[in-house]
Amino acid sequence: MTYDPNNIFAKILAGNLPCHRVYEDEHNLAFMDVMPQADGHTLVIPKRGSRNILDADPEVIGSLMAVVQKIARASQKAFAADGVMIQQFNEAAAGQTVFHLHIHVLPRMTGVPLRPHTGKMADQTVLARHAEMIRSVL
Ligand code: 5GP
Repeated sequence: MTYDPNNIFAKILAGNLPCHRVYEDEHNLAFMDVMPQADGHTLVIPKRGSRNILDADPEVIGSLMAVVQKIARASQKAFAADGVMIQQFNEAAAGQTVFHLHIHVLPRMTGVPLRPHTGKMADQTVLARHAEMIRSVL
């Protein structure tokens, strides 16, 4: 399996598709998931292309995980979350649907179940507000 540079996250990185940006540095980008399974559901991706953790350079993963921690801490604070869930899938058999390495960061509240993946996009104004809430505490 090889990396396809035409995947949707590569298009976001190239600026050819919009996103609600939460954080960006030289090597990584964090933005809101368009179909959030919890309020504040953020995706963190490296700028260097790989399909997933199986083919990624360990240095890329190290830098990515430092940003995941930063976003996890900020989203816990922004949403006064009881916990933060980190998810990451490798290949279709494991649930991966977009083949550019990404880590899900989901603020969780006690007793509040995750929303199902409906395939329906969230309201853009809500996503923009949630991105701002996380940005404001970074
Ligand atoms: P996976 O199952 O591959 O780990 O998750 C891919 C995630 O990307 C899903 O949670 C899905 O909602 C999200 N997603 C798919 N297309 C887009 C998009 O165009 N923009 C954003 N921001 N998220 C997307």
